[in-house]
Amino acid sequence: MLGRMNAPALPPYDDVAAAAERLQGHAHRTPVMTSRTVNAELGAEVFFKCENLQRMGAFKFRGAFNALSRFTPEQRRAGVVAFSSGNHAQAIALSARLLGMPATIVMPHDAPEMKVAATRGYGAQVVIYDRYNDDREQIGRDLATRHGYTLIPPYDHPDVIAGQGTAAKELFEEVGPLDAFFVCLGGGGLLSGSALATRALSPACRLYGVEPEAGNDGQQSFRSGAIVRIDTPKTIADGAQTQYLGELTFAIIRRDVDDILTATDAQLVDAMRFMASRMKLIAEPTGCLGFAAARAMGEQLRGQRVGVLISGGNVDIARFCELMAAH
Ligand SMILES: *Cc1c(COP(=O)(O)O)cnc(C)c1O
Repeated sequence: MLGRMNAPALPPYDDVAAAAERLQGHAHRTPVMTSRTVNAELGAEVFFKCENLQRMGAFKFRGAFNALSRFTPEQRRAGVVAFSSGNHAQAIALSARLLGMPATIVMPHDAPEMKVAATRGYGAQVVIYDRYNDDREQIGRDLATRHGYTLIPPYDHPDVIAGQGTAAKELFEEVGPLDAFFVCLGGGGLLSGSALATRALSPACRLYGVEPEAGNDGQQSFRSGAIVRIDTPKTIADGAQTQYLGELTFAIIRRDVDDILTATDAQLVDAMRFMASRMKLIAEPTGCLGFAAARAMGEQLRGQRVGVLISGGNVDIARFCELMAAH
């Protein structure tokens, strides 16, 4: 719970702008795509910000690189530790390699094979834990204490939030103000960073966070006004299996977001199929949360300018085929 006395200071939009400068020449400025078929289906003008085409396949490179760029020389020498089900791990591992520092990543036993292999491939040391029984944060903190590593959490950190906000900043700079914007939601780093950019660059835009229906802790938290914790949800959206929002991310979301929506696994598979077949884009299940919710909203978006953030594209091809065949 957020106590009034020690409420954390929330990062301002200026931190997003500063992150964008640090990322220049390191992160891709990802393309914004459109689809006549989607526009016709929704009667709207829809802009897809394609972070599935970001380095290492997801927006998380932005937050990780921004956070590691701000390390002191001593912190760089000791290195970084992170816990993650996948994309944050790869983002930290790649950023650490680019900045020349050691990285240790704590990953769940059931993380997708491709993500574990990619993390090792970037030169990081991987420590495996049991998602359903171990406390990954405790493992991360212990490693940090023992070896002097700096722990960079996947979402509840001001530099991570500011970095994630740079994708939305690029979108608004490219297409101008929007009427509605749909952003995938796990622990809220992407959504809270996007919120800072949205309120600065397109203040009247309705901003929606979208999470898996099986794990709607964010929606419950948003509507009740206090952070709600849930068991690890069973969903194909492995990037959004978070159990609770962060204190910082929740505070920004409460202040700046209009509502939290949900999408079912079946809607995610439909969205993945549509993107692959019609737009020639591979998105991972979590990456389709925003698009799935925009399609479900349908009529209400008629005549509007709509942003959809496609957050990542890291899905094994075998898994992708399995999902396409099963639903
Ligand atoms: C991490 C992740 C999310 C959720 O981001 P948060 O900052 O935790 O809310 C969404 N999509 C993809 C592809 C991710 O890797």
